Amino acid sequence: MAGLLHTAPPETISAARRIMGLDPAHGWPHVLRVARLADEIIERGKLAGYDREVLATAIVLHDVGRFLPGEGHHAVKSAEYARGLLSRLGWEEARVEQVAHVILAHSYSLGVEPKTLEAMILSDADKLDALGAVGIARVFHTGCQLGRSFSESLRHFAEKILRLPSLLRLEASREIARERILIVEAFVKSAESEGMMWLDESDPHGSGGEVGRRH
Ligand code: FE
Repeated sequence: MAGLLHTAPPETISAARRIMGLDPAHGWPHVLRVARLADEIIERGKLAGYDREVLATAIVLHDVGRFLPGEGHHAVKSAEYARGLLSRLGWEEARVEQVAHVILAHSYSLGVEPKTLEAMILSDADKLDALGAVGIARVFHTGCQLGRSFSESLRHFAEKILRLPSLLRLEASREIARERILIVEAFVKSAESEGMMWLDESDPHGSGGEVGRRH
């Protein structure tokens, strides 16, 4: 079966690429990775009975809100954008709302429960892209953009990244997560023993040692 992204309307792909750009952490490259992870979840879990076009379209548009002007939660802005674009493309309202739900429910922080299989797949695939080698690279890329110290980036692993596996909905996603979480745990352990949290401005005495700990 061809990859999921081939199922999304070309207009949604060109719009998302234009709006998101090539930011490696949250831009178009993230969409490509999430689509690949969703394909992997579907294949491993032998999942059926979901709407491929709804899922692919939601994957393409789920993070555009991060790059759109104006206030508000990025998932709400992405869902609004999707509603407008898909209505203009002549989609029926019920299917537009299916896509909007998948987008709203992917967010870690918005608190919308995924109610459909499509929503569970995107929510899981998005979280898996925050784990493994890519997850580590994303934390430091974003940390650099936000002016975070190494200590602060390491703390982000304990506060968010290492908690993500408990939020996965599908068994196939938990299988993929197992290997990726080992990579993150090994990285955090090495970072601590190498003194990555020492000697930055938030810790002038280099006392370090506790910031990256999970418990
Ligand atoms: Fe995302």
